[in-house]
Amino acid sequence: MSTDEVTLDDLPLREDLRGRTPYGAPQLDVAVRLNTNENPYPPPVELSADVAAAVERTAGQLHRYPDRDATALREQLAGYLNAVTSSALTAGHVWAANGSNEVLQQVLQAFGGPGRSALGFVPSYSMHPIIAAGTRTEWHAEQRRADFSLDIDAAVAAVLRLRPDVVFVTSPNNPTGGSASLAELRALLDAAPAIVVVDEAYAEFSEQPSSIELLDEYPGKLIVSRTMSKAFAFAGGRLGYLAAAPAMVDALQLVRLPYHLSVLTQAAARAALEHGQRTLASVATIVGERKRVSATLAEMGFHVVPSDANFVLFGQFADAHRVWTSYLDNGVLIRDVGIDGYLRVTIGTPEENDAFLAASKEVASGPD
Ligand code: PMP
Repeated sequence: MSTDEVTLDDLPLREDLRGRTPYGAPQLDVAVRLNTNENPYPPPVELSADVAAAVERTAGQLHRYPDRDATALREQLAGYLNAVTSSALTAGHVWAANGSNEVLQQVLQAFGGPGRSALGFVPSYSMHPIIAAGTRTEWHAEQRRADFSLDIDAAVAAVLRLRPDVVFVTSPNNPTGGSASLAELRALLDAAPAIVVVDEAYAEFSEQPSSIELLDEYPGKLIVSRTMSKAFAFAGGRLGYLAAAPAMVDALQLVRLPYHLSVLTQAAARAALEHGQRTLASVATIVGERKRVSATLAEMGFHVVPSDANFVLFGQFADAHRVWTSYLDNGVLIRDVGIDGYLRVTIGTPEENDAFLAASKEVASGPD
């Protein structure tokens, strides 16, 4: 038997992984790509020059392992969080990894796992249950309301009933766009028996205050997860991070792989953070465009779910997947997130959004 003849079914895979499908947003070569919630603006030349220079400087050290604790990078991340919230975080309150997906995986490795459970309020970020499965954490899903808002009373009741070891709240929520208020988060934190992860991947686009404001009230429970993949325009650099009590960071160090952040990643992320202010100036443009796209879609007769992020969920379609294909035929790649009747579009540059809106006009007037 050759290597090509062995199939997945032949392998001694864990039983609980059989039949599962991997995370898979299509990566297609289309003119207008509005499907993975990235910042549409590439780094300015000054930033890419600084990243290149930083990488070149560190290239002479490639024979050595990187700083295992990424202390300088974590200090810079703490400085950024302190500048945008009213907190006084240090490197000890911040942990970083290759994307917030890796951060979340480490959280479940440390606080979930066999015999433990996690709860999410769905529809929400599809990687939460996938990471739960990978770490053998039992997954519970509680539905949001029909309008996709968080029913806080039902959410608290679910927490009290299920007593999960980890509660995930995504705010703003991907793929629906709404945020949780601090009062709602307090209610969940009060009810939760153990860890509450607020996934704030899209926080920079939101008008709600960050749950980082609650860290001192709930130091033994709250983990706030963030990423440089969205507002920071660093999706390709892979850098996610979290803010929590230093003891939480100690816990994650028990499960992290040594030297997980390469010298190249650390150097590039630090250079990108130095240019943070300039990069984050794009947030206002993106939020303005989100409002324009939402209003224009509504005028065309679509149902638009109010969004606090850099994407918009809209519908309603009898056959969302067929409509997704029509957009693709018009050169616009958006996302079918598997919610009946709805599709999600990432806010792009004004030109990309115009192309999306032009395609929407076709879709709106076409038969469904
Ligand atoms: N959380 C949420 C809610 C997300 O939407 C994403 C990216 N789609 C992530 C976490 C992970 O992002 P990354 O690993 O690039 O930091």
